[in-house]
Amino acid sequence: MVQKVKGSPAADNSGIYRRPRLVLRPTRVEDIPAILGKPKAYPSPVRPVGADYSQTRCVGGDGGTVVNTGAFDKILEFDDGCVRAQAGVRMSTLVRALEERGLELPLTPEIGNISVGAVAVTTLPQASYQEGLAQMASCVTEMKLITPQGKQITVSERERDLIRVLRSSYGLLGIVHEVSLRVQPLKAVKIDYRNYSLAEFGARYASIVSGPGALRLHIAPYSDRVTVERRTPDDEANVSRSGIWQIRNSMMRNVLPAFGTSVGGVLATPGLRNAVLSGVHRALNATQGRSSRGVVVYAHEWMRDLPTEPWKARYTYSLWAFPQADFPKLLAAYVAFCRAYYKQYKYRCNVVTGASRLHRDRNSLFSPSYTGNMVTLEPSSPGDQGFEDFLIDFNEFASTHGGTPTFNQTRALRPEHVAKAFGERARLFAALRQRTDPVNRFRNSYFANLFG
Ligand SMILES: Cc1cc2nc3c(=O)[nH]c(=O)nc-3n(C[C@H](O)[C@H](O)[C@H](O)COP(=O)(O)OP(=O)(O)OC[C@H]3O[C@@H](n4cnc5c(N)ncnc54)[C@H](O)[C@@H]3O)c2cc1C
Repeated sequence: MVQKVKGSPAADNSGIYRRPRLVLRPTRVEDIPAILGKPKAYPSPVRPVGADYSQTRCVGGDGGTVVNTGAFDKILEFDDGCVRAQAGVRMSTLVRALEERGLELPLTPEIGNISVGAVAVTTLPQASYQEGLAQMASCVTEMKLITPQGKQITVSERERDLIRVLRSSYGLLGIVHEVSLRVQPLKAVKIDYRNYSLAEFGARYASIVSGPGALRLHIAPYSDRVTVERRTPDDEANVSRSGIWQIRNSMMRNVLPAFGTSVGGVLATPGLRNAVLSGVHRALNATQGRSSRGVVVYAHEWMRDLPTEPWKARYTYSLWAFPQADFPKLLAAYVAFCRAYYKQYKYRCNVVTGASRLHRDRNSLFSPSYTGNMVTLEPSSPGDQGFEDFLIDFNEFASTHGGTPTFNQTRALRPEHVAKAFGERARLFAALRQRTDPVNRFRNSYFANLFG
């Protein structure tokens, strides 16, 4: 049975107008081929949507048919090192169900709203512990999907090349309805923070990246600070669960967003804004002072849910990845870029820039770390005026400096950025997409523009 959803969304979380003609919510898998087989009743493009939290128009309805996978919300099986779930299950539901069984995914995102279907087919890079496992899709061992012709297929990691393409397919090659993901026993993770000036960070960079564990950076380009967050599996942890996570929670959930969402809206004069910004760092440092000995947590404890309506998140960002080897140089150039931009346009991002180290991972075609270890840069904002313009210039900076973007988390992307970053991989995907979907049942204007 197909439910028509009333009040089709006119805008995604970024406020971009996109207007599909129909939004459907199929309740049975066999409804999907039925929709695809009737282009007159259900016009193209047919775009699957999971949680609708992407930062770009990758879902983009374009006068066509959006297929909401929300009714496919069952976790089907926990078995043999894997969990099998329907595409509409949210990560928060899945991760909590695993935790009850003493299990976890090899990677856990900080946001719980992501759908399992999107995990399978989009780029969700995460601070990584080891080579070959630097994005959520690499945890996917099998997916079941409906092709543009309405055919049901199952693809497992035994078909390596095919699953590598599907893990980067953004609903352009098929609508995924079921996914299997690898799981492991729950492991405690020790988290510690170190604060550096940019110069100190550069001087210690080689030992920072060669140390064990996953790395997340919090960069303040205007006040000369980099905070290095290191997550190390802790086999000996005797974890007292209550209270321990509050330290980081208070930083991630209260301190940063509180400043991020209030500063831009309330303070208009740049001078005043700058004064408050350094307060963010004082607050951050004070919070971290308490955690200088390191805290021990389980990964599911760092997951948080954004507001149920994506546009209420009041937080936005963009993401590019850069080669790990040159990152200190790149960071110095980024700081110079941010300061020059501020001097010229009186705009600066008033939330710290996040970054994650990604180990080399070739498990999906558009993996940001396909060619080697990378570090991301994620300028962030509460969605204040000036951020979109900043991103246009930042994209030029990032592309010129050899950056790799994503299709769901990099805003204001242009075809030349895609061609430069992905080259032959982009041409290969475009040709494959054209062959498998010659009538463009799934393709919307966003991807038509980027791939031709
Ligand atoms: C405020 C905010 C903070 C965020 N923070 C983080 C973060 O910390 N870490 C992180 O990893 N991400 C983060 N994200 C990004 C976000 O999690 C992902 O970009 C996105 O949400 C993916 O999940 P979704 O279910 O919302 O995908 P959607 O936006 O619904 O879809 C993404 C793409 O996948 C396709 N798709 C969806 N479901 C299917 C399916 N069943 N079959 C085939 N194709 C499908 C869609 O057509 C679209 O092209 C954040 C987003 C926001 C808005």
